[in-house]
Amino acid sequence: MEYVSTRGKIGKIGFLDAFLMGLANDGGLLVPSEIPVVPASTLKEWQQLSYQELVLAIFSYYTNGEIPEDELKEMVYASYASFRDPEVTPVRKLTDDLYLLELFHGPTFAFKDIALQFMGQLYTYVSRKQGKKIHILGATSGDTGASAIEGVKGKEGIKICILHPHGKVSKVQELQMTTVLDSNVLNLSVEGNFDDCQGMIKELFNDLDFKANNHLAAINSINFIRIMAQIVYYFYAYFQVAKETGAAEVNFSVPTGNFGDIFAGYMAKRMGLPISKLILATNENNILERFVLEGVYKPGDFRMTYSPSMDIQVASNFERYLYYVLGEDAAKISELMNQFKSEGQIVISGDALAKVRSEFGAHGVQGQECLDTISKYKAETGYLLDPHSACGVAAANKYSGDGLVTISLATAHPAKFDEAIRLCGIEQQYPEQISSLFEKEQRQTRVDGSLPDVVSELLKFYNA
Ligand SMILES: *Cc1c(COP(=O)(O)O)cnc(C)c1O
Repeated sequence: MEYVSTRGKIGKIGFLDAFLMGLANDGGLLVPSEIPVVPASTLKEWQQLSYQELVLAIFSYYTNGEIPEDELKEMVYASYASFRDPEVTPVRKLTDDLYLLELFHGPTFAFKDIALQFMGQLYTYVSRKQGKKIHILGATSGDTGASAIEGVKGKEGIKICILHPHGKVSKVQELQMTTVLDSNVLNLSVEGNFDDCQGMIKELFNDLDFKANNHLAAINSINFIRIMAQIVYYFYAYFQVAKETGAAEVNFSVPTGNFGDIFAGYMAKRMGLPISKLILATNENNILERFVLEGVYKPGDFRMTYSPSMDIQVASNFERYLYYVLGEDAAKISELMNQFKSEGQIVISGDALAKVRSEFGAHGVQGQECLDTISKYKAETGYLLDPHSACGVAAANKYSGDGLVTISLATAHPAKFDEAIRLCGIEQQYPEQISSLFEKEQRQTRVDGSLPDVVSELLKFYNA
């Protein structure tokens, strides 16, 4: 499998080159040159695989044979060794037509661990094999940062800098990032919101000299490897639910911010997994809901919500989906993205919009609805949802009644978001790994929201 850019000026390139390039050098996003379709007979065989075996089976379609089998296997097993559940991503039944896919059993208690623990292994592998310096640079709405840092802290040849929006991540998210004191870790706490942080990252990656001179490497879901790793649990969850219920087809409901996780679901569907609808759950930052319902992609005013990891207006991965829904027309995507830059919106209509609406449902969950969903499920089933997972469940309920089982993605453990849980009048017990964070020393550098300030801190860090 080779990779091309959504804007048509990069490609075809190999797997490791795509991994290292992150954002495509023409400003677009890298996608597989063709989406592999898995034969029905293979799908049937995959039902019996363990999570790790399934990872290897799916990765084999994407890695272009560039990593020796035994080394890939070692990395995959090491990536999931730190997970607290032997199934890695177990499925739980909530009601007859609603299942939860628990994605938070990794070391930082959110779904980002599934891709980022593997990417940590892969960066270490490349650094060792190619003798390369690797400077990971990323923005986080809270969970990516913690997970990426966990994946590479203390690793030789690798430095990591993460920008997070000051005061706009949960306390536990902040502690998970800033209590890691290894000298290869820099946390920048930025005046502004996540979109500001992500905007600066994209600007630095688009400066090709700066990117090359400073060995920049991406861990945000602009990196296709994130998507690749996340495709796996859609298959795994479907197999578990199909075994239990006999379902031939299911829906997935996905709490969405950057369109990364749900785009992995879209890839799974295109690969042949029988998914009826992908239900896109957002919070009040609902640009993607408005796109699915009206065909208008236009950022609104930034809002702080109970689900801070989804407080995103400009969704990086949206460009990947747009590329596919408009028939893989790179010239058209370049034109639309330029228009987005100059006019601040993209509008689609007609057949393209009809296609979007046939593939996706969408629901923007309001604050009170999120809290009510947490309270309702705690009272009725005893299950404590985190506020992001609650958005997924609320959206799933909105689309229930089509006779299919919906699998809703539980993207974080509730202990990461006690601020919202407490507002529901619920007291929870923290897992030990989280309660111990409150005793630890923190280290972070405050910066104003300007790019020069960020660059100056980065250069100090790289030259230290
Ligand atoms: C990152 C995150 C999301 C959103 O995922 P995207 O890939 O950005 O759409 C949802 N929930 C939690 C807990 C997250 O950390």
